[in-house]
Amino acid sequence: MGDPAKNRRGSSVPGRSMSLVPNKGGSKSEKKVSNKVMINVGGVRYETYKSTLRNIPDTRLSWLTEPTAVTNADFDPETGEFFFDRHPGVFNMVLNYYRTGKLHAPTDVCGPLFEEELSYWGIDEKQIEACCWMTYRTHRDAQETLAELEGGAAYIIKYFPSF
Ligand SMILES: [Zn+2]
Repeated sequence: MGDPAKNRRGSSVPGRSMSLVPNKGGSKSEKKVSNKVMINVGGVRYETYKSTLRNIPDTRLSWLTEPTAVTNADFDPETGEFFFDRHPGVFNMVLNYYRTGKLHAPTDVCGPLFEEELSYWGIDEKQIEACCWMTYRTHRDAQETLAELEGGAAYIIKYFPSF
């Protein structure tokens, strides 16, 4: 009797490694490199394309694509980064707006903080998507309610209409 379980491997493994070798024939990525922008916001580094920043014209980030930006903004020639001492979490949503054209509000910051950051970056709050608008508006409604409280009865009428 033979022993079929005793299989011998390694005699001739077909090699397919040829196709896995990366093409070393001079990557011509220089054009892409020059299109890149590095932005450091509050210690967090973001990388994007100049073309992305141009998507929302006439804003602080679109200005970074202009030749004068290296002198007008806080640019570090050693690291090649633009530095902004702002909220990194909010910036994430801001940059996403440039990438996708849709502005959503972060859930971990309150409305006034988001409002302040948007105005710093020069973005119109009206661009906030409908899904996030109600949450964003909450603080405005609260402020209005506080104003109404000074009028006293107006508050009662608004929230207890059955009275
Ligand atoms: Zn949303």
